[in-house]
Amino acid sequence: MTTCIKNAIIVNEGKKTLGSVIIENGIISAIQTNEAESGTSCDNVIDAQQCYLIPGVIDDHVHFRDPGLTHKADILSESAAAAAGGVTSFMDMPNCNPQTITLEALENKFNLASEKSIVNYSFYFGATNDNAALFSQLDKKHVCGIKLFMGASTGNMLVEKPEALRQIFSKADMLIAAHCEEPSIIQWNSDLVQMKYGDDPDIAFHSKIRSEEACWQSSALAVQLAKETGARLHVLHISTARELELFEDKPLAEKRITAEVCVPHLVFCDKDYATLGARVKCNPSIKTAVDREILRCALNSDTIDVIATDHAPHLLSEKQGGALKAVSGMPSIQFSLVCMLELVRDGVLTIEQVIQKMCHAPADLFQIDKRGYIRPGYKADLVLVNPNCEWTVTPDCILSKCGWSPYEGKTFHSKVEKTFVNGDLVYSDGTVNTSHRGEVLFFNR
Ligand SMILES: [Zn+2]
Repeated sequence: MTTCIKNAIIVNEGKKTLGSVIIENGIISAIQTNEAESGTSCDNVIDAQQCYLIPGVIDDHVHFRDPGLTHKADILSESAAAAAGGVTSFMDMPNCNPQTITLEALENKFNLASEKSIVNYSFYFGATNDNAALFSQLDKKHVCGIKLFMGASTGNMLVEKPEALRQIFSKADMLIAAHCEEPSIIQWNSDLVQMKYGDDPDIAFHSKIRSEEACWQSSALAVQLAKETGARLHVLHISTARELELFEDKPLAEKRITAEVCVPHLVFCDKDYATLGARVKCNPSIKTAVDREILRCALNSDTIDVIATDHAPHLLSEKQGGALKAVSGMPSIQFSLVCMLELVRDGVLTIEQVIQKMCHAPADLFQIDKRGYIRPGYKADLVLVNPNCEWTVTPDCILSKCGWSPYEGKTFHSKVEKTFVNGDLVYSDGTVNTSHRGEVLFFNR
């Protein structure tokens, strides 16, 4: 089976080129710039009509809630949302039920995904106060990393004991992905706010409780531990300008400490609590408009390495209450790419930079085998994006199981038209092929 996607503006490795991509048995076999010849011998020809053809987005930070919390989300529903959003691979976090903190639970998740995931997948192993002895048994070719909660969030997987943290950093022989928010500062702020404003203060206090200082102290500690032990550290969802001081503006290949920023922290700011309330409550909290501006600017350099979503669905019924009662987390994966393309329209980033941070860099950072680029011999994970299509998010287009989105009512000016996973068309013009199954990611380590 051969497919030709012709007449596309191919955005790849810092360049835009008009041409065709040929797919043979799920693999990119050729990239042609001579339009006259393209597709003549292919079974299937798709005219891209000069839409952008980009590598599929690789999201290194999602919570698909499977197993155990499947009233919020599951691998099938959320991988459908991923496909519709141009995301062809995801890496999922361990705070489901049972938590992914044993080899058995980890294996169970890989099995679940092989049965249910429309796109490609890998899973993090969750660190606890006492499971570092298992790290050496993890399959480095298929497990993306070790997730460490240095701040409590959904699922209560906090690792707090200093000796346990040191064990984890010393014993990890693969990437540690850390959620950094200092629990003692959060507790202090929370007590203070409760004393003044009662049991469940207004949602806007969330960013005062989960403060800049909490992020700074915890991220600084993680970086210090990584430097002392030589561990490979990836700090997740940087939310403050101040934390950027901890990271170096250097190419990925030269670093042992890297940073991720998530779409909510690039789109929203604390002023949005007034209109969106708990819908934009997440951990770490969204911070000020100044933080957002500086995080956006940092994407113009190598200070922040990747853009992910922290896609974390909850039911709206769980989002009721104020800063201490409403749960934290929001779905994002279906709209992450188009959100970032709005920043291109606003002149904040170039499309080449968006592709670098959402497609190329995650592939490099995790050493993913043959994905993340449009190159002959690579897997045909590809997305066709119409860069001139105005549309507004309405509830009926939301595929996440929770059925709501913080982006409802937002107007976007680009649209994902088609998504190919391993050469198969899994999303086209509003419809997901829910019977497609993705592959487990393979890491060259
Ligand atoms: Zn997360």
